Amino acid sequence: MTLHANLIDGEWVKGEAIPNINPSNTNDIVGEYARASTADAEQAIAAATAAFPAWSRSTPLERHAVLRKASDEILARKEELGTLLSREEGKTLAEGIGETIRAAQVFDFFAGEALRLTGETVPSVRPNIGIEMTRHPVGVVGIITPWNFPIAIPAWKIAPALCYGNTVVFKPADLVPGCSWAIVDILQRAGLPKGVLNLVMGQGAVVGQVILDSAAVNAITFTGSVSTGKRVAAASVEHMRKFQLEMGGKNPLVVLDDADLDTAVECAANGAFFSTGQRCTASSRLVVTEGIHDAFVAALTKRLEGLVVDDALKEGTHIGPVVDQNQFDQDLSYVQIGKSEGATLAFGGETLERDNPGFYMQPALFTECSNAMRICREEIFGPVASVIKVKDYDEALAVANDTSFGLSSGICTQSLKHATHYKANAEAGMVMVNLPTAGVDFHVPFGGSKGSSYGPREQGRYAAEFYTTVRTAYTSA
Ligand code: NAD
Repeated sequence: MTLHANLIDGEWVKGEAIPNINPSNTNDIVGEYARASTADAEQAIAAATAAFPAWSRSTPLERHAVLRKASDEILARKEELGTLLSREEGKTLAEGIGETIRAAQVFDFFAGEALRLTGETVPSVRPNIGIEMTRHPVGVVGIITPWNFPIAIPAWKIAPALCYGNTVVFKPADLVPGCSWAIVDILQRAGLPKGVLNLVMGQGAVVGQVILDSAAVNAITFTGSVSTGKRVAAASVEHMRKFQLEMGGKNPLVVLDDADLDTAVECAANGAFFSTGQRCTASSRLVVTEGIHDAFVAALTKRLEGLVVDDALKEGTHIGPVVDQNQFDQDLSYVQIGKSEGATLAFGGETLERDNPGFYMQPALFTECSNAMRICREEIFGPVASVIKVKDYDEALAVANDTSFGLSSGICTQSLKHATHYKANAEAGMVMVNLPTAGVDFHVPFGGSKGSSYGPREQGRYAAEFYTTVRTAYTSA
């Protein structure tokens, strides 16, 4: 089996071979990937540091050309890369290809942004002085990503980092190195000078920690759990460096009496269970007013009965497996926790046997939940959702906001008054009306409030806030 090596200073560097295992079939090894050592990570940081002066002065057209080529190749290989994604992470092939197209769109967007770099000039309050405000790259950016969006999240961090003239040390999640290796290979062949983008696959506690502890890393962009995010924050404050965190969610979907029932059920089924519920924007709390509650639960349960849980690559599969044994155990343990807390398991929650050995779980729907229960407060990150019955809109809003997270918040209603009020008062970075809480565009800001995010927004033009530093220059005529 070919060993996929790390990329350090333009060279492919081998290391201990780690198998990448398919969660739909644990007998299937997707590939072997080299685990970087501490020394590899240090060399990668040194290479990015050395490459920064020249890359920071590269022309917009050079950056545009690399990002544009990468976008074209990712798009041309969408079936192959989408299959790799589904094989290593377990989301369905349609979702895998969709995410691959998304990555291509992100590179395309930032290829365009490279040609649209601007500054501002303003008159001074003093006579005969001009002021220019210009954006400059931050330096060496450490990129640390989670396993649940193996190509889109690396894309939406690497593309802006390179677009604005930074160099990169990239550590993908240990569980899903395949797509990350593929896009680094594509970018390198697209013409990046050596050392501008370095790939160090491996364990967070080893490789990730080197990035956190290095004084030479000028900024870290991180997506993952709250606990690791706190480590990134503490280490970054120690070095007085810029950092950006995208973390967990416990996203509510409010369903009001006046909602269109089909729309509400579709939003809940999609938001809570597609991608096996392994989305930071998943609707894990369904906050439903009492007039529509019973009809909603009945219709959602019927919808869940029709969903096929099976091999991610199999035609007809709606929900793939859970990503690995640890996450599987965690999901199943939360089903037990929900039962022991007194919630009613209205549907699913059991393990499923399929043709291949894999981590198959029937989506779980709890009813009779209170927002104080652990299943309603802690991020489960699996196909488990809880229905919380409330009296009216005011109680729904209060319950929706009663969480330490604030990533995405949704409402299904036909009332303009309630939709408008919700958009203004939901405590979240993203608010959805008659749409699932998951599923966003690539050209607008992404991020949350409270315990979900820290620092500037990702994606779209707002990405410049993190990947550049503003300089204000005064000139006396
Ligand atoms: P995780 O925190 O375990 O790992 C994330 C990354 O951090 C991995 O690459 C990991 O190797 C690395 N890491 C772990 N320990 C480290 C250390 N000591 N130093 C440096 N790096 C370290 O998270 P995960 O299990 O991969 O992902 C799931 C989490 O990600 C969930 O909480 C989910 O909500 C969150 N997530 C958030 C968003 C968002 O945009 N808000 C998007 C996707 C996933």
